[in-house]
Amino acid sequence: MTYTEEAKQELIHLDSRWDCCRRAEICAAIFLSGGLSFRGAGRYGLSVNLKSLSASRYYFSLIKKYLGVTPLVSTLSTNRLGEQNGVELRFSDEDVDESMEKLMLRDENALFGVASAPNSEIVKNPCCKAAFLKSAFLITGYVSNPDKEYALSISASSEEAAKCIRDICLSEGVNARISTNRSRYVVYTKSAEGVSTILSLMGAQGARLRLENVRIMKDIKNGTNRQTNCDNNNIERTIKSASTQMEDIRYIASALKSERIPDWAREIMSLRLENPDSSLQELGEMCDPPLTKSGVNNRLRRLSRLADSLREQNKAPKA
Ligand SMILES: [Zn+2]
Repeated sequence: MTYTEEAKQELIHLDSRWDCCRRAEICAAIFLSGGLSFRGAGRYGLSVNLKSLSASRYYFSLIKKYLGVTPLVSTLSTNRLGEQNGVELRFSDEDVDESMEKLMLRDENALFGVASAPNSEIVKNPCCKAAFLKSAFLITGYVSNPDKEYALSISASSEEAAKCIRDICLSEGVNARISTNRSRYVVYTKSAEGVSTILSLMGAQGARLRLENVRIMKDIKNGTNRQTNCDNNNIERTIKSASTQMEDIRYIASALKSERIPDWAREIMSLRLENPDSSLQELGEMCDPPLTKSGVNNRLRRLSRLADSLREQNKAPKA
C-alpha cells in the first residue's frame, strides 16, 4: 500500500461526529469529483465519483446518514476522474432538488445556477473546514512517502474550489499554493510542517506519526552537522563581543588616568586584553579569586556602560 492509500484507509474509518461536518464532506466529494452537472431546463445531475470500492462504501453510508437518500451504485470502466474501475454514486432524479438545497449548491448569480465552490456557510466552522479537507483529500488527494520527500496535494477542476481548499490550509497556518496542471488546479504544500499539520487536521494521526518519525530520524542524522555549525556560531559570537570589549577597554584606559580606573575593573580589563580569544568561563578561571561565567559577564557589562558614559562625557561641551 502506498503512503497515500494508507492515509486514506485511515480516514475512511473515521466518521464525522456532527451533521455540519457530514454536510461539508459530501459537498467536498461532489465538487472535487465533478459530480454536479446541468442537464438543461432547470434540471441537474448529482453524483459522487470514486476511485475505490472502500471509498464508495464510506460515502454511500455518509449520504444515507446525512441526506437520508439512497444513491444508486454503478461501477464504471472509466469515471469522471479518468480512473479505471471507478464507482459512481448517483442521486436519483427525485432526490436531486432537495439534496442540492441541503448542500447549498445553488447559486442564482452563477452560470447555470449552480455554485462552482462550496457556499461559505458550509466551511464556516473549524470542524467543517477539517471535514471538507479530509473529504477533498479522499477524492483527489496525494501525499508523498516522507522517506522520499514532503509533499501533499489535492486537485480540483475549478479554480474556486481550489481556492477554497487553499484558504482552509492558510487559515491553519499552512502555506499552501495553487499550480495549474492541464485543466486542473492543484493545491499543494511541500513543507514537512505543512504536510504534518494537514494530516493531523484531517484526522490521519497514524500517517502523521509515520511522517514525524521520519523527520526525527532525519534530524538525528543531521544532528552532528548542526552541532558543528552551532559551535562555529558560538565562537564567532565570542570573538565579536571580545573585540567590542577590547575597544571599550582601550577607550577606558585612554580616557581615565590609571589611578582612577575602579578596582573591580582593573583585573578583568587586563585579562581580556591579554586573552582576546578566551571564553567568559576561561576568563573567570583566571581571575583571583575565580569568578563564575555570569560574574565575568557582569563585569564586562559594567565596563561597557563605563566606556559609554565616558564617551558621553567627552562629547559634552566643556563648561
Ligand atoms: Zn462541522
